[in-house]
Amino acid sequence: MNATLGSGPDPQPPHARRETAVPASGAAAVPVRQRLAELRGPAVAPHPMDARALAALAANPGCERRALLDGAGVNKTALAQALGSPAAYGQSQFAFMRGNAFEARVKSDGGTELLRLLGADDPAAARTPDVSAAGPEGRTARTALALREATAEKTWTLLDHPMLALEVAGTPAYLEPDAVVVHPDGRWTVVEIKSFPMLDGSADPAKVGAAARQAAVYVLALERIAERVAGAEVGHRVLLVCPKDFSNLPTASLVDVRKQRSVTVRQLRRMRGVAELASALPPGTTFDPSEEPSELAAAVESVEAAYAPECLSACELAFHCRERAREAGAVETLGRGVRGELGGLTTVAAVLDAAEGRAGDPADPTVAALRRAAALRAEALGGAAAPTGAGV
Ligand code: SF4
Repeated sequence: MNATLGSGPDPQPPHARRETAVPASGAAAVPVRQRLAELRGPAVAPHPMDARALAALAANPGCERRALLDGAGVNKTALAQALGSPAAYGQSQFAFMRGNAFEARVKSDGGTELLRLLGADDPAAARTPDVSAAGPEGRTARTALALREATAEKTWTLLDHPMLALEVAGTPAYLEPDAVVVHPDGRWTVVEIKSFPMLDGSADPAKVGAAARQAAVYVLALERIAERVAGAEVGHRVLLVCPKDFSNLPTASLVDVRKQRSVTVRQLRRMRGVAELASALPPGTTFDPSEEPSELAAAVESVEAAYAPECLSACELAFHCRERAREAGAVETLGRGVRGELGGLTTVAAVLDAAEGRAGDPADPTVAALRRAAALRAEALGGAAAPTGAGV
C-alpha cells in the first residue's frame, strides 16, 4: 500500500479526496475516480470493500489483479460469472441468516450480556448512542464523534454496527464491525459475533483465525481515530462471541490479534496504489460485466495475478485464475510452499526437464534435489536407469 497505515493521511470520503490524474498509457490523463468508474463500467455501482475482503486482500498482497479490482469497486462475483467461471466462494444464504439471527439474539437485551462479558458491573446503565447517518461518510463521522464523546465521559458505551474507514491502496474502505465497546478507562474493544460453535471453550482454529484477521482490520481502523482522541487506547484483544456448544446461547472468548494486526499492516504496505495500477492499463480497458467474455478475459489478463490454492476460499475469481495458471503450467497451482522450494523454475514443464536431466544446471541445489528425487522414484518403481546427470 502506498498510503501508510497508522501514520498516513486520514481517510477521506471520495468526494473530498484530492483528485489525482491517471496518465493512462497512450491516453490523456483522467481523474482517478473517473478512471475507476470506467474500469468497473459506467452503469455499475462501486462494490464496497468490507473487512473480510480486506483481510483476504492482505493475505495475498502480491496480487495486483485483486488490488485493482477491489480498489476500483469492481463486483468480482458478477465479473467471474461473465467470464464463465462463477465463484463457488461466499457465505451461503442459510449461514448468513443463521448468523444474523444469532447476532440479533446476542444483542436482544440491548447489549447488556456483551458488556457483562467485558466486565461491566452495571451493563444496563451503559450508553448506546445512535451511530446511524446518511451514507458511509456520514456514518464514519458519526462513529468517530460517538467514540470521542464516550471516551471523554468515561462511561461504558456500546456502539452497535459503527462504521470505520481505512485507506487501502489509495482508496477508502468502509468497515462495519458488529460492535465496539468503550470502557470507562478509555479502552476500545472490538466485538465480533460469529455463528460457528465454541465447543468446550474452543472453536475451529481456521474460523477463529479468519475472525481474528477480520478483527485486526477493525483494530487498525480504530487506531486511526484513537490517535486523535485524548485518553483513548485500542485493545488488541477482541471479544469473539459464538454459540456455546450446540445451543444458541452466547459464549465469548478474548482473542489476541496483535500478530494478525502486524501482518496486515505489513501486507497492506506492500500493495501498489490503485491509481498506479490503473495507469499501467491500456486505454479503454474495462471490467464491465456486460462486455464480451473474450474482452473481459483480455482485460483481466492485463493485470498481474498471484494465484495460490488459498484463493479458492478467499476470492471470487479463483476458478478463472486457477484455469489460467493451469493452462500456463504454473507451479503456483501446487501451493506457495512448493513454489518457494522451486526457486527459478516457474513451470511444471521446466521442473520435469530439470528433474529428468534435459535442462538445468546440475550445480543448482534445486536442480540437484529434483534429479535426486527423480532417481529415487525410478529406483522405487523398479530399478529403472537413473536419468542422465542425476549424480547419484
Ligand atoms: S483468485 Fe486471482 S484475482 Fe483473486 S487473489 Fe487469487 S490470483 Fe488474485
